[in-house]
Amino acid sequence: MQYPFAAAFKAPRGSAIRELFPYLSRPDMISFAGGYPSPALFDASGLREAMEHAMRAPPAEWLQYANTQGELALRGALAAWMARRGIAAAADHVLVTTGSQQGFDLILRVLIDPGDTVLVERPTYTTALQALRHAGARVVTVGTDADGMIVDELEAVPGIKAIYTLPTFGNPTGATLSLERRERLLEFALRHRLLIIEDDAYGDVRFDGEHVPALAALAREAGAEDRLVYLSTLSKIVAPGLRVGWMVAPPEIVQRCVIAKQTIDLSTSPWIQGAAAHYLSSGQLERHLPRIVAAYREQAHAMVAALREQLAGKFMFSAPQGGMFVWGFLPTGVDAAALLRTAIEEKVMYVPGAPFYADAPDARSVRLCFSMSTPERIRTGVERLRRAFQRYDTISWEEER
Ligand code: PMP
Repeated sequence: MQYPFAAAFKAPRGSAIRELFPYLSRPDMISFAGGYPSPALFDASGLREAMEHAMRAPPAEWLQYANTQGELALRGALAAWMARRGIAAAADHVLVTTGSQQGFDLILRVLIDPGDTVLVERPTYTTALQALRHAGARVVTVGTDADGMIVDELEAVPGIKAIYTLPTFGNPTGATLSLERRERLLEFALRHRLLIIEDDAYGDVRFDGEHVPALAALAREAGAEDRLVYLSTLSKIVAPGLRVGWMVAPPEIVQRCVIAKQTIDLSTSPWIQGAAAHYLSSGQLERHLPRIVAAYREQAHAMVAALREQLAGKFMFSAPQGGMFVWGFLPTGVDAAALLRTAIEEKVMYVPGAPFYADAPDARSVRLCFSMSTPERIRTGVERLRRAFQRYDTISWEEER
C-alpha cells in the first residue's frame, strides 16, 4: 500500500541499537549493548511509598488534568535538586517533560525549521540524531576527544542556530568537557548569538574525579543565561519507567515549549509528578543516589581493569569518571560491526559506534555499557570479547591471504 507519508517518514530509519535486541534474549548472553540503567538499583520500595503518598492526596490533586508546564511542587523540588550542583533555576523557568527525550523534541519543534543548522558532537546520542532528522535539520559536527567537544574546531562552522552538547559523561563517549572548554563554549555561544542545548542526562552519576559545573551552572557568570537550554531526567538516577525529565530555559522558550507540549500529551502524568515531587522533597533521592553511584563505580572499574588486562593494545579508550559507558576504538582495519558477529557467537554484545556519528562514522568505534552487568559478569564478558577478537583476527588474516 502506498500511504502518503510525510517526508521524514517515507523511508524511516529505525534505531540501529534496537535491531540488536533479538540477540539479547539468547541464553547466557552478556550484553554491554543497550544503554539501560540497572534495574537492581531501582528504589522500588521508596518509589512505592512515593506513589502511595501521591495517591493519598485528594483525587483532584494528582488524578485530574494538570497544567502543561508541570506541577509546581515538582518544579520546586527539581529546582532544589539542581541547586545542589550550582544550577540556579527558578521554578517558572522549569518545564516538566515526559522524559528528557521529549524535552529535546520540544526544543526542536519551537526552534528548527527544515533546513536550519544544528551543530552536534561527533559522536553524539543516536536518538537525538533521529529527532534532528525528523525535524528536517541540517546537522553539522564538531569532533571530540577525551575532554569532550574540541571547542577550537567550532570557529570553522558558519551559520549554526543551536549547539547540542552532552558535556558531562556523554553518551556514547563517557567523556567530560573540561572547565576551560566549557567557558570557551559559552563565550562562543555569546559571540555568535547561538543557543546551547545542554543534555545532562548523566551529570549526577559521577563516581570518580572532581566535580565540573554544568554549563547551566556557569552560564550566569558568563552572561550567557539567555543562551542556555538545559535538559535533564530522573531516568538514570531514579528509573526511566517514570518518564520524568525536565527543561530549564528562558521564559520565552519555556512558554513556546508549553504550547508545543499541549498537542503532544497535555501534560506529563500528574500522579507520577506528585510521586516524583515527594520522592525528591522527602530526601529519598538524596539518600538513594549514593548506592547507584557506588555500584556504577565498581562496575566501571571492573570493566576498565578487564579491558586493560585482556585487550591491551587492541582497544584504545579513556576511563570514564561517571555515567554508564566506556567508548573506544579497535585497531585500524578492524570493523566493529563485523567483529560483533563473532562476539555474538562468543555470547557477548556491544554496540558498534557508527550510528552515533552524524557524518564520517569511525568503523573501529565501540560503545560498551557497564551499568547492566555485575563486576563478575563484566570480567567474563571482556574475556569473551578477547576470544572473539582473537578468532576475528585469525579469520581476517586468513581472508587477506
Ligand atoms: N539524553 C541522553 C544522552 C540519553 O542517553 C538518554 C537516554 N538514553 C536520554 C537523553 C533520554 O532519556 P529520557 O527520555 O529517559 O529522559
